Amino acid sequence: MIMDYARARAGMVEHQIARRGVRDPLVLEAMGRIPREAFVLPGWEEEAYEDQPLPIADRQTISQPFIVAYMIEAAELRPGDRALEIGTGSGYAAAVMATIAAQVYTIERHPGLADTARRRLLELGVNNVEIRVGDGTLGWSEAQPFDTIIVTAGGPKVPTDLREQLAIGGRLVIPVGESQHRQSLIRVVREDRADYREEELADVAFVPLIGEGGWNAA
Ligand code: SAH
Repeated sequence: MIMDYARARAGMVEHQIARRGVRDPLVLEAMGRIPREAFVLPGWEEEAYEDQPLPIADRQTISQPFIVAYMIEAAELRPGDRALEIGTGSGYAAAVMATIAAQVYTIERHPGLADTARRRLLELGVNNVEIRVGDGTLGWSEAQPFDTIIVTAGGPKVPTDLREQLAIGGRLVIPVGESQHRQSLIRVVREDRADYREEELADVAFVPLIGEGGWNAA
């Protein structure tokens, strides 16, 4: 039997996301539009709407759908925004963000993941995402300032470069923790040039953020 992906996707939005308290209609609509089955490893398509992260290449993961929706809502991503994502991975979260934002910049340290993500986004006709290979903890200085920054890997602290690349009024959402595999999700709002407000949102578990403003490579 061929799986009905559209139906599985609608079920995911209702049961895993809306029912758990994500209310932003822009986020629910975007999650209902992007085919997650196009972002998983070949052979894993039927698992694409399960309530969990899934493996991708280079020992990385595509995040659980709920956490993607939760982070985008927490970052208050709005139409017209210039957004930065650190940790392109499969490209799934970037595609969801691109449904809402004007332009998404995303950085991935593994060149193979970046290539695959680029090809997928092209195939899906998503044309407002720019992918760069490099250390995302340094941000993307030529494209700053950003209204929204989302980091999808966990670091030991909030990288200074990312704070500084926020627009005034901009929001940064990032997992931060002393352990490489358990973090608190933190939201940083830049209220003024030198004024940042920080709050803790939830306990989360992301793959490690590796780089100058993150953990050292093993
Ligand atoms: N947003 C992704 C989830 C990817 S998992 C998705 O929707 O599929 C986190 C990703 O962050 C991994 O691919 C990992 O290689 C990448 N990463 C870790 N440290 C990084 C850094 N300093 N710069 C850029 N990417 C990084």
